[in-house]
Amino acid sequence: MPEAKLKLIYEGKAKYVYALNDELLLMVFKDDVTAFDGKVKATVIGKGILAARLTAFFFRLLEEQGIRTHFIDYDGCRGIVVKRANIIPLEVIVRNYAYGSLFRRMPSYKLLQKLDPPLTEFHYKDDVLGDPLVLEEDILRTGILSREELEYIKQLSLKINSILLEFFESRNLRFVDMKLEFGKVRSGEIVLCDEISGDTFRVLDPSGEHLDKEVFRRTKDPGLLLKAYLKLAQIVGVDVNDINIPCRGYYY
Ligand code: ADP
Ligand code: MG
Repeated sequence: MPEAKLKLIYEGKAKYVYALNDELLLMVFKDDVTAFDGKVKATVIGKGILAARLTAFFFRLLEEQGIRTHFIDYDGCRGIVVKRANIIPLEVIVRNYAYGSLFRRMPSYKLLQKLDPPLTEFHYKDDVLGDPLVLEEDILRTGILSREELEYIKQLSLKINSILLEFFESRNLRFVDMKLEFGKVRSGEIVLCDEISGDTFRVLDPSGEHLDKEVFRRTKDPGLLLKAYLKLAQIVGVDVNDINIPCRGYYY
């Protein structure tokens, strides 16, 4: 654990979350990778910094394009300062190509069939239940979101997707799908939260190789995952030269 002085408020599979004050949190990215809802686990030295750098990069890119997010600051190491939010208990998945769990509920798709316009899914955020797909009606009737909020999140997710799609396509990568989380900040505004990294999206290089967590799901090999994440970071354009140096950020 990086810092005893800060109050740890949550330890997840990929990050520690510390309270900096009433309004700000520090997310510290671990060198851990898990798959199959935490059943398979490994340590990959350097993964935490790479995931934090990618997340900072993409949140800045999105902010520049007018997307409201929880991002405040990146400490250059594994720590990202964010606005504290009440996380909406949904995972929004946007798919540009048919892949993965989509086939379990709908085998009639062709593998990597283009989904245009992109397909948006809502899943209830619950590892024990395996993050099940839910209907929009379920979300409205349980009061998780109002109709306006649901529409807003759908439109925002599609806008985020189109920004990232353009970004990856201009770098010759196929942007398959991604998972987003949203939260409500103190003002009541809904903003994009959590992370954007190879743990939360799937991208394929021109030869069809995964540059995302799929490498670990398939091989369970931390070394191969690190190799894929280094290649992804290089293509995105974030610094990868110092990832083995034990670093201390500003905040810990
Ligand atoms: P998990 O194992 O639950 O996926 P992570 O290791 O990803 O957890 O830790 C990050 C946790 O912090 C997640 O539960 C995520 O929903 C939550 N989170 C992300 N951004 C914020 C935020 N701005 N405010 C409060 N919680 C957040
Ligand atoms: Mg998570």
